[in-house]
Amino acid sequence: MVNPNRKFFVGGNFKMNGTVDMINELINHLNNAKLDGKTEVVVAPPSIYLLQVKEKLTPPAQVAAQNCYTADSGAYTGEISPSQLQDANIEWVILGHSERRSMFGDTDKFVADKTKAAIANGLKVILCVGESQEEREKDITMEVNERQLEAVTKTIEEKDWEHIVLAYEPVWAIGTGLVASPQQAQEVHADLRQWLGQRVSQKVADSIRIIYGGSVNGKNCKELARQPDIDGFLVGGASLKPEFVDICKSAD
Ligand code: PEP
Repeated sequence: MVNPNRKFFVGGNFKMNGTVDMINELINHLNNAKLDGKTEVVVAPPSIYLLQVKEKLTPPAQVAAQNCYTADSGAYTGEISPSQLQDANIEWVILGHSERRSMFGDTDKFVADKTKAAIANGLKVILCVGESQEEREKDITMEVNERQLEAVTKTIEEKDWEHIVLAYEPVWAIGTGLVASPQQAQEVHADLRQWLGQRVSQKVADSIRIIYGGSVNGKNCKELARQPDIDGFLVGGASLKPEFVDICKSAD
């Protein structure tokens, strides 16, 4: 059940995968699918391929970086700044992905600071939150998600939320084939929306897209898309396969 006030959104996170040729093939496949624009589609290739994808991808599909830093420029070897992304006409950036949090030391505060810097430079942000298996088993799912969101809430202003798509990505579901059930995902999405209503504003809660990520594929996407608080998907593994097009059409 797609909410008419929240345009369905599908992001494809290629992670550190692909070659020039493989990425051209993926983009050609997406272009040939002639998506009608009813769903907002954004693909996130590794940074070395951002400009290639930007050049080849047919709008209205858009491009996202998988990360950025906080500063505009300077001695930060290996980083990309939000203003450089903007200069290259890259519209979106993924921030707070669990792989960055768990493997590269991105703290809640760092993710919040990057979010602020990205929005200040005109970027839109796919902001990821999610609990681990252990945290779910300990029954602290919402505590963890709220803690991650609270850092952002303290750092940005209410008006900034219109530039954010919130991705709920339970860590136990990412890349494992263990997709959350539609009920499990819906429950957390509804809780996140309620929390945003209380902590930020009802306007933000009603309008923000909350997308689900974690082992979404061409088969399970339809039922997930029917949940009232699931406004789209962030897709990892399946974004590298032809079935990504089916996921982009899952709300049709
Ligand atoms: C992700 O990395 O954001 C993701 C959801 O991965 P996968 O779809 O492979 O679980």
